[in-house]
Amino acid sequence: MKYFICTRDDVNSRAIRDEIDKALKKNGNVLDEICPDTVISVGGDGTYLRAVHKYLDRLENVDFIGIHTGKLGFFCEFTRNEIDDLIEALLYKRRVIVKHHLLDIKYKNNHYYGINEVRVENPYNTMICNVYIQNQLLENFRGNGLNFSSTTGASAYNRSLGGPLIDPRIETITMGEVASINHNAYRSLNSFLVLGEGYEIRLQGNFKRCLIGYDHEFVTIDSSSIEDEITVNLSHRSMRSLHYKDVNYFYRLRKAFVAD
Ligand code: NAP
Ligand code: MN
Repeated sequence: MKYFICTRDDVNSRAIRDEIDKALKKNGNVLDEICPDTVISVGGDGTYLRAVHKYLDRLENVDFIGIHTGKLGFFCEFTRNEIDDLIEALLYKRRVIVKHHLLDIKYKNNHYYGINEVRVENPYNTMICNVYIQNQLLENFRGNGLNFSSTTGASAYNRSLGGPLIDPRIETITMGEVASINHNAYRSLNSFLVLGEGYEIRLQGNFKRCLIGYDHEFVTIDSSSIEDEITVNLSHRSMRSLHYKDVNYFYRLRKAFVAD
């Protein structure tokens, strides 16, 4: 195995990284930051997302697994009490891979990819745009922005917006509004919209001083065109998550949101 370990910058996570690193090396595996086939994330869900983005150019060749040094995470299936289990699994157990389609947001021929979500937001002024789904005009949106969450991202920013949690067995894009303006003059859907695979959402408007966010990353748009286009869909590209334990989704929900 050629592996790399992405680590959150704290004492606890670094100590766990060193322990895993030592055990893997001892068993003849090679640390390779440039071309790993296995990437282990030590930290939180945020650390895992950063690990995936680090290898975005070669996702087809990398399996990701996470060990959470805080609580149980949505991406991380091992906890800090299970370091030995993780090492043993990596060394001896059969791999189960689950592929997750990435969200693709395109602006001016540039593609940006999100695991949790992609979004367009204007922190300064009202963002105004037409929203088309499969070329059908849905609405003229006014507000702070629009969020497009994956199934995996449903429990992240989408949930904070009041959006639904989604059955992890289905691939979806959930469109959610960020502080939409809804009154007698302006009206938008004002509701979450959950779409299955195969849809293209097209935003058309003036995105000056907007940002395109994709997970923890973002770019700012500085265009004066009033007819810019941004499109969102589920990409053909996917990431590979590596599993050894079948952690129950409802157990994760309980651990994350209900009780410790
Ligand atoms: P971050 O500090 O890395 O993450 C913010 C929180 O979101 C952390 O507690 C993180 O868990 C949790 N998280 C990440 N992915 C999740 C998922 N799929 N399900 C449930 N919880 C999840 O913040 P960041 O670097 O700015 O952004 C990374 C992600 O965090 C974004 O993709 C976004 O979804 C989410 N986020 C949410 C809000 C919000 O809800 N208002 C604000 C900012 C970012 P860990 O503690 O395990 O890392
Ligand atoms: Mn699919």
